[in-house]
Amino acid sequence: MISVTHLGFPRIGARRELKLALESFWKGDTPAQLLHDTAASLRERHWRLAHDAGADVVPCNDFSLYDHVLDNAVLFDAIPASHRAAFEEDPLGGYFALARGVQDGRRDLRALEMTKWFDTNYHYLVPQFEPGQRFALRGDKPLAELAQAQALGLDARPVLLGPVSFLKLGKRNDGGDPRELLDALLPAYAELLAKLKAAGAQWVQLDEPTLTLDLDDADRAAFRRAYAALAEVDAPRRLLTTYFGALGDNATLAAQLPVEGLHVDLVRAPQQLESLLPLLPEQRALSLGVVDGRNIWRADLDAALSVARRAGDRATWLAPSCSLLHVPTDIELERKLPTPLRHWMAYAKQKIEELHLLAGVLGGDAQAARDLAAAASARAARLASPLLRNAQVRKRLATVEPAMARRVSPYAKRAQLQQERLNLPLFPTTTIGSFPQTAQVRRARAEHKAGKLDDAAYQAFLENETAQCLREQETLGIDVLVHGEFERNDMVEYFGEQLDGFAFTAHGWVQSYGSRCVKPPVLFGDVARPRAMTVEWTRYAQSLTARPVKGMLTGPVTILQWSFVRDDQPRADSCRQIALALREEVLDLEAAGIAVIQIDEPALREGLPLRRADWPAYLAWAGESFRLAASGVGDATQIHTHMCYAEFNDIIEAVAALDADVISIETSRSRMELLDAFARYRYPNGIGPGVYDIHSPRVPSETEMRELLDKALEVLDPAQVWVNPDCGLKTRGWPEVRAALQAMVRAAQGLRESVLATA
Ligand code: GLN
Ligand code: ZN
Repeated sequence: MISVTHLGFPRIGARRELKLALESFWKGDTPAQLLHDTAASLRERHWRLAHDAGADVVPCNDFSLYDHVLDNAVLFDAIPASHRAAFEEDPLGGYFALARGVQDGRRDLRALEMTKWFDTNYHYLVPQFEPGQRFALRGDKPLAELAQAQALGLDARPVLLGPVSFLKLGKRNDGGDPRELLDALLPAYAELLAKLKAAGAQWVQLDEPTLTLDLDDADRAAFRRAYAALAEVDAPRRLLTTYFGALGDNATLAAQLPVEGLHVDLVRAPQQLESLLPLLPEQRALSLGVVDGRNIWRADLDAALSVARRAGDRATWLAPSCSLLHVPTDIELERKLPTPLRHWMAYAKQKIEELHLLAGVLGGDAQAARDLAAAASARAARLASPLLRNAQVRKRLATVEPAMARRVSPYAKRAQLQQERLNLPLFPTTTIGSFPQTAQVRRARAEHKAGKLDDAAYQAFLENETAQCLREQETLGIDVLVHGEFERNDMVEYFGEQLDGFAFTAHGWVQSYGSRCVKPPVLFGDVARPRAMTVEWTRYAQSLTARPVKGMLTGPVTILQWSFVRDDQPRADSCRQIALALREEVLDLEAAGIAVIQIDEPALREGLPLRRADWPAYLAWAGESFRLAASGVGDATQIHTHMCYAEFNDIIEAVAALDADVISIETSRSRMELLDAFARYRYPNGIGPGVYDIHSPRVPSETEMRELLDKALEVLDPAQVWVNPDCGLKTRGWPEVRAALQAMVRAAQGLRESVLATA
């Protein structure tokens, strides 16, 4: 008989209870005990919820107060020397110092670096290993959580990040190869596994998602060594879990590792089952990831059933493809979502119910078979729904020609016409779009939303903010101005709310990092733009100044990437639809006299597939979508784009192929590290390497910014360089923004003078 399980549950709480408890603890409003109590009750609630939904076995130690990778680092004592004293004094305080940094009278400790968890929007803290790193078991988190579950009478399986993925996701601060630390690490894992066995765990789950990435020989050797060593231990049975894609060329390796069970992702890679089965040793238990842990649609249960049937009696468990961390908790809370949509969607709880249903059908339960048929027809109803299709959009898409994704003239000609129109100085200054979203701005928005501030009053408020923002920029002497984005809540939500094909949930929160959650829009149907979205605000701003005002849009790839997207057509198709809608907006802005339009694509890089072989196809459609949105304008209209990162080395050609007239990028935190990429490849168009790190409240000096610019000029041509901060200013306060931008404008002026003097 097949059992139902899952690999991990969202921990933030359906009503973001963990977020509230964390933030109130951090503020000092509530004691640590309350935080621990909230955590314990969330764990219990989530176990019961999963159990009642039909899970026979539930994971434990999938819970985390901040991040499960950080937990794993702490568990094995990978605590940087700088943070050790804080840790010894107060483990909880030390833990949060690693997560968020501390800066008080006594301590000034930086947080660990944070980065994206594979291709999700979850961020983990990068374990930092030191020269001579030792590992040891610290604390008893997995054992304590196991005991808590056992006390509730549940069959619980502790989860650990597997040793190889743990090392590979970390960094050595001496620049060495973290995999060399494996032999030092394994005894600590072995000790823990033995303790879990003694505590009564039947199984232990070892997450090794890096098995779905491109691996080299050293990786493969590390896997073999690690699992051979762990096989020697009197441990619970080991379930090796892989997810986020196919094992591909690592299938033989994964199948041969000496473990008792293997979990595979059969949602992203259903076809891997057939190739895997013959490789698997006889006794190996198989966990089938047949329900999508990354999206919110009800599963294709017929397809899942057929996968499970193909596995036959090899299959031991049915599970979601990956941890449910990436979906919200319970769709039942979504009372306000339009009815058909609500019936189409499944959050974590519903996904376990789907698995339970599948298990029932496989076990020959007649009622389950009827329920499954009903569920399958509900899905069919979604796919057939007229709400998904818009004949106009489809007609327009059919007329898209390659020429529409190309500017009329090459860059050199455009640059000349744009310069004639804009008459900008050398090293023009600009900003990335948003200005401080002050407490007043947020309060006015909340009051307007709650109906306490009427439309006219809110409009007047926003106009005033915008006008003031333009005056500030003129006073500072910035060359290309922005309206400030005061009317926007979020750069994706603002557009999603105005486009057809998107819906918004009330409880669809997913953890982004720590206590930060996002509520991704649901892109369920064809995307169309019923009316202009940004023209009025941009036109208004332009009416207040003689300097050019830059229109501000979020790009198609970023809107796609930060939404839950329909699964009935390729993502590329949805991206193109967004692109076409944005193209209309770009043309409307141009027609309104706007000469500079920025299309932000901060998510372009994070959309990269996990396997290199899949990059070219992605970059081709992502790039085409951007160009489709951008290229309808005449030569004299200047298109900007913005990306918040500096890791350009491996995609610089694709970025150049976007053919934006100007790109602004992050470079100040990395001290112009990007210069490597530009030394290798001559970027052809305008570029603003960010000179001011907006992620920090520090005000950089004119000299500092000038130094960065001088560095940039070692690989860039003076004629192509713009001067700007490295991202939007909405998280900052006005006094620091004013001071920093003043220094930035001076740095540009100084540079201008020195270049002209030597010319
Ligand atoms: N235009 C946006 C802003 O300034 C860009 C934000 C981003 O890159 N994440 O806020
Ligand atoms: Zn940015």
